[in-house]
Amino acid sequence: MNITVIGTGYVGLVSGICYAELGHTVVCVDKDSSKITALRSGLIPIYEPGLEELSARNTAAGRLRFTGDLKEAVRGTDLVVIAVGTPPLPSGEADLSYIDGAADEIADALDGYAIVAVKSTVPVGTNERVRDRIRSRTDMPFDSVSLPEFLREGSAVRDTLKPDRIVIGSDSRAAAEKVAQLHKPLTDRIMITDIRSAEMLKYASNAFLATKISFINEIANICEKVGADVTQVAEGMGYDRRIGPAFLKAGIGYGGSCFPKDTRALIQIAGHVEYDFKLLSSVVEVNRDQRLRMVQKLETIFGGDLSGKTVAVWGLAFKPETDDVREAPALEIMRNLIARGVKVKAYDPIALPNFRGLFGESGVVWCDHAMEAAAGADALCLLTEWEEFARADLQQLQSTMKQPVLIDGRNVFKEEDLAGTEFVYYSIGRPSLN
Ligand code: NAD
Repeated sequence: MNITVIGTGYVGLVSGICYAELGHTVVCVDKDSSKITALRSGLIPIYEPGLEELSARNTAAGRLRFTGDLKEAVRGTDLVVIAVGTPPLPSGEADLSYIDGAADEIADALDGYAIVAVKSTVPVGTNERVRDRIRSRTDMPFDSVSLPEFLREGSAVRDTLKPDRIVIGSDSRAAAEKVAQLHKPLTDRIMITDIRSAEMLKYASNAFLATKISFINEIANICEKVGADVTQVAEGMGYDRRIGPAFLKAGIGYGGSCFPKDTRALIQIAGHVEYDFKLLSSVVEVNRDQRLRMVQKLETIFGGDLSGKTVAVWGLAFKPETDDVREAPALEIMRNLIARGVKVKAYDPIALPNFRGLFGESGVVWCDHAMEAAAGADALCLLTEWEEFARADLQQLQSTMKQPVLIDGRNVFKEEDLAGTEFVYYSIGRPSLN
């Protein structure tokens, strides 16, 4: 197939490169010329393990190229995949301006029949809106397909090449079958459904995963009060096949470019049809509070006054193995610490430049090494469970800090790791050690 992918972000770039890996001829388009320049010279603008090699291999094989010229890229194509961003508006609704823009450009570029698939996460009804927009601008024949994406940053290549399922929503059986054929080499679990169910299914999946996270975080908060250990509780729950172990890790809450925006968007989608999604509203509220519990724990340790304290922050990305910092818990936690007069020293192995760009300077000391951030600190907050932190030498850490106070927001360390140190250790939903 000739495939055009619009948007070279986390979704578009990975999808495009993986379609090329399957042997198709792929053109990836982005209106951000700096991304196209980087991609053309073999540089991958995002951190995603395995992507660079795959891109190089397929570019060399002549199956993959990058351009800023959408019109040229759409000419003669069989399938156009829209993978542009749908960021949140202040109301929580998805901003569809990039989708609309892409639809108009596609309409103006179509020179023959093509399937137009929307991979971006979009509210119910958006595929129909895209179809109507294109139809209003061109007489060229085309079919619409909703193709929601479920990849996770950090394991996006693996998730794309070995997905749990592919969901295809369309009112054209022939178009759906063609898109199914494209994904056949990846999985046998291909579900063809109607457009609105496909759109809804994506939001429902993310909302459910977010619910699991907020649920276990509330269980963790109760565990702290009743003297139970949430890691034991979650392990025992996870053995139940009706529950499963995934997404039962207590911590400082979910972040990233999907769960926060998709939960809020689904609340809005429900609101538009006069349905009050009470459960999901609570999930969002619990998640917001969970981040602030880190700050409250520090306040408890330091008798309510954090001004003048130095706090080291390890981990800025919203999760390990990504440089994505959109809606990372570290943003809110650090803003709160600074507002309380704390001097923050921050380190992340990969995401620091992106985080710094988003956060602004605000007097934070940005550090190149974990131990440099910890040096002279009154407390250390671990916010992202990068492998590097789990392997840290805790004796060395203790000796470099001013006070051995460790708040482990991701339950990385076990009691035995701390043996022989004098750390005052707080984690999430587990007994504190001091
Ligand atoms: P992103 O912000 O990383 O990338 C979007 C890209 O689209 C940008 O590079 C932008 O310049 C480009 N773009 C916008 N309008 C364009 C146009 N008219 N022509 C060409 N390029 C254009 O976004 P992302 O994280 O890849 O997410 C894309 C969509 O996929 C969103 O709807 C998101 O919710 C969904 N999604 C994301 C993930 C994830 O883990 N990031 C997972 C599943 C679904």
